[in-house]
Amino acid sequence: METQRFVRNPFKSKTWTDPKGTVQLIKRVLSENFRTYIPKYLLAFVFMGVIAATTAASAWIMRDVVNEVFVNKDAQMVYVIGAVVFFIFTLKGVATYGQIVVLARVGNEIVTDLRRRMFTILLRQNQAYFDRHTLAEIGVQVGQGVGAVKTTLDMIVTTLGRDVLTIIGLAVVMAVQNPLLSLFALITMPPAVIGVTFLIRRVKEYVKRQVVSNAKVSTVMQETVLGVRDVRAFGMEPVMLDKMEVGLQEVKKQSNKIASLTARTSPLMDTLGGVAISLVILYGGYSVIELDQDPGALFSFITALLLAYDPARRLARLNVNLGKQVVGLRIMYDLVDRKPDHEDEPDAPDIVLEAAQVEFHDVEFSYGDSAALHNTSFVAEAGKMTALVGASGAGKSTVFSLLERFYDPQSGEILIDGQNIRNVTQRSLRECIAFVGQDPFLFNNSIRDNIAVGKPGCSQEEIEAAARSANAHDFIMALPEGYDTRAGQSGSNLSGGQKQRVAIARAMLRDAPILLLDEATSALDAESEATIQSALEKLMEDRTTLVIAHRLSTVRHAHRIHVMDKGRVLESGTHNELFEHDGIYRRLCELQFQDKTEAAE
Ligand code: ADP
Repeated sequence: METQRFVRNPFKSKTWTDPKGTVQLIKRVLSENFRTYIPKYLLAFVFMGVIAATTAASAWIMRDVVNEVFVNKDAQMVYVIGAVVFFIFTLKGVATYGQIVVLARVGNEIVTDLRRRMFTILLRQNQAYFDRHTLAEIGVQVGQGVGAVKTTLDMIVTTLGRDVLTIIGLAVVMAVQNPLLSLFALITMPPAVIGVTFLIRRVKEYVKRQVVSNAKVSTVMQETVLGVRDVRAFGMEPVMLDKMEVGLQEVKKQSNKIASLTARTSPLMDTLGGVAISLVILYGGYSVIELDQDPGALFSFITALLLAYDPARRLARLNVNLGKQVVGLRIMYDLVDRKPDHEDEPDAPDIVLEAAQVEFHDVEFSYGDSAALHNTSFVAEAGKMTALVGASGAGKSTVFSLLERFYDPQSGEILIDGQNIRNVTQRSLRECIAFVGQDPFLFNNSIRDNIAVGKPGCSQEEIEAAARSANAHDFIMALPEGYDTRAGQSGSNLSGGQKQRVAIARAMLRDAPILLLDEATSALDAESEATIQSALEKLMEDRTTLVIAHRLSTVRHAHRIHVMDKGRVLESGTHNELFEHDGIYRRLCELQFQDKTEAAE
């Protein structure tokens, strides 16, 4: 079954083109995260207040430095002023330390919370979601989103807290020292705001494109890593390299553009700052030289203006920098806001099993637009083996997916012991089913842990007993570290037959009354095949077993065989009945038989 589908633009979202959405998003980030951490943020604000006050004080004291030390030449005051300056800067240093540490802690807590929240949301998504999104896309969605929330909060808090407070403090100093000159400094504000607003719009556009390109790069990376065998076997390295190159070039181009647009705020602010400072020096110098005004006040004013320049520049860039984060926030909220469409009904009971009979009644199902099952009806008798046969694409795996409720049918009913599986809890439903597939997934843990998946918390004895029944114990003991040997990424350290026996051991431990078996098509050597077959026979005893059968030998023993074609059950019966009927089944048998004789020749 194909599960990885490349989606060209994974983050299509209407909100991207909605300019009003930006404010809403930022408000949402603040309201969702700020409140929880109010005491810590308040503490950070106290530190920021101290930083602002000490910065303003350092400008203020310049008046006394000039007037007392340079104009009045007061030797006593030199010591006093020196001590005060030392005190101001030490206090500022301590407050800055406090602010950085408090904010970092809050930020880290927020990141932890968000990651947990996103992971929980991912776990609640239905199978269709995972069919549509690649691992790389989900990674980008989570990574960029969480990063964006942290950066947004950091920027808002430090800029609006520390920088705004500092500017206010310095503005007070300026206004007191020289109100008229303060007006000159204000002249530069409107052009700065207009210029910055224009830049933001363009930055956002490029950030949006960059996210899509980044997802492309991650997807190529993922496809290469997951499909490395096929990539090598088919000599696809140059193709993957080309794909990667295209993505990388796009990301580079967009990053350069974003950097140059963001950097344009610097010449803008520098020029405007230069204009303001020159005007102040021209008029201030004139008033001190010609009008004999207080030189200390002018010096203090210029110091305050220079000190205000950096926070003002950051404040102007806040909007541009927030614009960069907005895209990350949107793709994250796209995920966060997805309704979990596969939740249990509020008061759904657990399934109550008696014999474990499985029935499909007129089940219709399609994956999005692609139809998979039509009016499928059949019964899998309790405690017996039922086989599903048919060409590839006939809908056999879909029957399994529906029975485990990875998807819900569009119409019809699936019953286990008369209970519609839609109305019972998913946990209890899945607990009564064990699945052994063609290519079982092994976690990169020890073999022991991989078997224990079947029954969390089970003892070593139980694990070994299950492994013995699955004919896996001997090969496991022959591995370098026995049960402690690691399975490797996706079980790459084990052969196909070995992986399958680990999966059978898992199913043994699970001891579920219903067994779903997707028989291996891969060519196993005769010995492996025999060991697996005998392990499976033990596993099937007294269980309601549904087998997707690829080999005639399995089907012969089935209590009932359902022949599927293009999503329909066309024939049902025992091997002998169907063979005599001279229909699809018989043709399938003849085909296999022909293959076998050809192979033997
Ligand atoms: P079988 O197991 O008999 O080979 P499947 O149940 O896997 O058949 O597939 C039945 C049909 O559904 C096929 O046409 C297949 O292409 C389609 N299909 C299977 N899985 C998906 C999926 N995740 N998304 C879309 N279509 C799918």
